[in-house]
Amino acid sequence: MSPSGKLAIQPAPVAYFSMEVGLESAMPTYSGGLGVLAGDTLRAAADLGINMVGMTLLYRKGYFQQRLDNDGNQSENPVEWSPRDYLEPLPQRTIIEIENRHVQLRPWLYVIRGITDHEVPVYFLDSDLPDNDPRDQTLTDYLYGGDMRYRLCQEAVLGLGGISMLRALGHNDIQTYHMNEGHSSLLVLALLEEQTQRRSLRAVTQEDMEAIRRKCVFTTHTPVPAGHDKFPKELVQQVLGPDRKQGLESAGCFLDNTLNMTNLALISSHYINGVSMRHEKISRDMFPDYPINSITNGVHAVTWASDAFASLYDRYIPEWRRDNLYLRYAISIPKEEIQSAHIEAKKALFEVIEKRTGKTLDVDKMTLGFARRATAYKRADLLFSDLARLRSIAKESGLLQVIYSGKAHPRDESGKALIRSIFKYIASLKHAIQLVYLQDYNMELGKYICAGVDLWLNTPQKPYEASGTSGMKAALNGVPSLSVLDGWWVEGHIEGITGWSIGEEWEDASDSIKEAASLYEKLEKVIVPMYYERPLDYAKVMRSAIAVNGFYYNAERMVFQYLANAYSQ
Ligand SMILES: *Cc1c(COP(=O)(O)O)cnc(C)c1O
Repeated sequence: MSPSGKLAIQPAPVAYFSMEVGLESAMPTYSGGLGVLAGDTLRAAADLGINMVGMTLLYRKGYFQQRLDNDGNQSENPVEWSPRDYLEPLPQRTIIEIENRHVQLRPWLYVIRGITDHEVPVYFLDSDLPDNDPRDQTLTDYLYGGDMRYRLCQEAVLGLGGISMLRALGHNDIQTYHMNEGHSSLLVLALLEEQTQRRSLRAVTQEDMEAIRRKCVFTTHTPVPAGHDKFPKELVQQVLGPDRKQGLESAGCFLDNTLNMTNLALISSHYINGVSMRHEKISRDMFPDYPINSITNGVHAVTWASDAFASLYDRYIPEWRRDNLYLRYAISIPKEEIQSAHIEAKKALFEVIEKRTGKTLDVDKMTLGFARRATAYKRADLLFSDLARLRSIAKESGLLQVIYSGKAHPRDESGKALIRSIFKYIASLKHAIQLVYLQDYNMELGKYICAGVDLWLNTPQKPYEASGTSGMKAALNGVPSLSVLDGWWVEGHIEGITGWSIGEEWEDASDSIKEAASLYEKLEKVIVPMYYERPLDYAKVMRSAIAVNGFYYNAERMVFQYLANAYSQ
């Protein structure tokens, strides 16, 4: 970097499109990992002085607010929030055609100011305007709500509306369009329309597609075929009209009469990446015709470091805020300092828990954390596979507390059942283990939990975790992971140094029985005894979690890699 803190080599301006962007905890424009990653990417771009703009939707009713009753039954309410408290409405308007109707869109602006005062604008598209048909006014109400038609309409707002809005806002110098997941790939259609100008979309040539590919970058996040957005041809024709349907057809975007959004992004991008080393391999197996690379995710260090660790780093390695690579020097921080910063973060979490639930936890007890979307593949219940064994570990090796949090998607019945089952385990283990389930998981709560527990538990079913980022937030705060070898942990794990694995090798599929056995074995024989009997050894693992993983799995390194590999054309 130059002395001004601006990058000496600037990429041509980049527009970053994402269906969800998490910028502030209370702005319900994200549901989970994908949106938080988008927010962290944009924040790191601002810090690095990169010419980037973000594009997403507003979501007046958000994802949802979660309420859990005493049995763990989840109910969902729209989030009450006022966009004006966070965003500035802009006067520009653009119109796109959906189902043969004109839909007017307006942008709301959020400005991210980086560490050197460089600004990255993020635009939130909103269709709630009086001139719109009542059906269209609600198109930007819910994130991941509604049926397939609603979803395709939203993707049209993001892709077609997003490109058109960039032009209305005067962003005419964009050279790279980065699609964060396939939801935004209709932007390709808008670029094709610009490219072919007066020629019909039906006459798209190979040269046209080549011109589009030079401009597009695609990051895929979904390791299983069923996870990719697909729309039937009739619906595409109904929502986008016959010409656009035909255009997509001549560009070869339909597979088996369905529009596969991932396929559209794949055929239109010159650079394609998965989000971890392992996910690159899985994506190549899924899409063998494409040159898929990987850039492992990272988290925005200044956002995710707890107050206690941020001030510890400020004292020992003050450069860390400007240049996250200095986190490597955390290896020189005395173990006692790591311990006391951690106790402070743990107390801060326990205060939050007490305020929310009235329950008092004990700072001297080893505390495990598990906070993520409640959905079957994350296996929040793996820890409870053998209750007798778990009770005996808590009794013989040392006392345990466990903190849970996470929302199930409103239509994910098995995810909801998982929350109810955790509540049953909480009741049946009442006298052996202190367990708490915190409702309404969000970024703020996530930050407290990742930093305040002693061990981060991660039990996804392989190969469903493309990357995962919550373990990176934990590492940044000196919290080691005990995790299945999937996603980022395949490359971030060094046994006994950065944390511990569940299972010994990467295999293609999970075996729940073996993995549960490994989970208990490591807790009982290695981790819990080290925590209680050799606390300085435990602090050493905490410290190397920071110096080895915090140093690397941050958003600054990730954005540098996008710069070097994807935006450099
Ligand atoms: C970081 C974060 C996630 C992602 O967590 P994973 O364990 O990677 O799934 C999800 N939700 C929120 C609120 C987060 O802050």
